[in-house]
Amino acid sequence: KQKLDIIKENIKAFEDFPKPGIIFRDIFSVLADPSLFKLLHEVLLSHVKEIQPPVEYICGVDSRGFIFGSILAVFLRVPFIPIRKKGKLPGPVDSITYELEYGQDTLEIQTNIIKEGGRVLIVDDLLATGGTLWAAAMLISNLKAEVVECLTIIELLDLKGRNKIPFPVYSLIQF
Ligand code: IMP
Repeated sequence: KQKLDIIKENIKAFEDFPKPGIIFRDIFSVLADPSLFKLLHEVLLSHVKEIQPPVEYICGVDSRGFIFGSILAVFLRVPFIPIRKKGKLPGPVDSITYELEYGQDTLEIQTNIIKEGGRVLIVDDLLATGGTLWAAAMLISNLKAEVVECLTIIELLDLKGRNKIPFPVYSLIQF
């Protein structure tokens, strides 16, 4: 059986979480099994190794993007840079505010941590409406760096989130 099918079958779904009517896909159910986590890591790594020319930075999106982004950064030997929710990063930051279903949210990155023209891979766990990855990608492109790809483990196809994002989007598993 294909590695991705095995991983997909093991992503637990929780109905009505965090709100009624939502099916929450829980990637942590895969991480709780070391052999599944290893499979997932292998698939992710083989994908990012193929990106040419190689990426120069990996940006992980708060908070599950930190897990997957950081292990890839170790293997690629490139800097790992966090993109965080407002107020979590010390020192000067650049920020972007984006619309949620109800209200707004803000993402931040430390100023001058990525060079102009730098080739950046953005990593998150899940693409739903696309608002979060859109904001992360715009934050990076506002720094005049290059968004090489937005990489996500899970994509919820019905929500068509990728249509919002004017950069390449790659997902491993689709629901
Ligand atoms: P979006 O901005 O609507 O694309 O939502 C994506 C963000 O919300 C990501 O950072 C996800 O971690 C989180 N998210 C949305 N739905 C789920 C889910 O079903 N499981 C886990 N995280 C989710």
